[in-house]
Amino acid sequence: MRFEIVTLFPEIVEALRIGLLGKAMDSGAIEIVARSPREFATDKHRSVDDAPYGGGSGMVLMPGPIAETLDALDAERGGPSHKVLLTPQGDRFDQRMAERFAALPSLTLVCGRYEGFDERIRGMVDQEVSLGDFVLLGGEIAGATIIEAVARLGPGVLGNDESATEESHSTGLLEYPQYTRPSVFRGQEVPAVLKSGDHARVARWRRKEALRRTKERRPDLLETAPLTDEDRKLLAELAAEDES
Ligand code: SAM
Repeated sequence: MRFEIVTLFPEIVEALRIGLLGKAMDSGAIEIVARSPREFATDKHRSVDDAPYGGGSGMVLMPGPIAETLDALDAERGGPSHKVLLTPQGDRFDQRMAERFAALPSLTLVCGRYEGFDERIRGMVDQEVSLGDFVLLGGEIAGATIIEAVARLGPGVLGNDESATEESHSTGLLEYPQYTRPSVFRGQEVPAVLKSGDHARVARWRRKEALRRTKERRPDLLETAPLTDEDRKLLAELAAEDES
């Protein structure tokens, strides 16, 4: 999959070359390209921002250099890309959106800076996306977060023994607790069932703990998670445990 970042700080791409994402970049499983609107600035100062009409504090990204950057990427790619503007006013990013993006051949992320961007830039993209109800200094970290969440769902990014399918939010639930060695740490023991070698019991325990954790921390997720009859039995067991 190809990721494109429109940013005043194209060096963000090298900061992403770490861990499994870095390996995926090196192997060609994913491609991350950054282009700076400054390349398309027309004055001698290479300006990409200007003061807002109507006054007020801060600077606003101008539409021209962003439009030129997007045109250059379209020409270079030769095919379409889903274009996303990063803004705290956009659709909230979540695992479902990551799954939809992972099915695309190309995703273009446009990063704002300063006070934001000229309103006409909104018309250049397919979607506006927010990471959450907080304000960052710029779109780069939001874009990097989206790239990590999307890239790890695609082929050739996670190792063979790592799976994205059972994790928190992939199943609609939070993930069950995980343990590794030692078996006893500062008096806290690993649950015996995980050392039993009985795969069916381990699977049942994990599902029940995923349901318990979701019920305790994010009960809202239980309203939409796809639950089986067995899940409902496990939830009834949990309710009975709560009452006893
Ligand atoms: N004045 C803008 C507003 O009130 O909507 C905020 C501008 S913010 C300081 C600069 C840039 O950071 C934004 O244009 C956007 O690209 C990025 N940004 C900030 N918070 C974000 C968030 N929660 N999600 C995605 N991008 C964000």
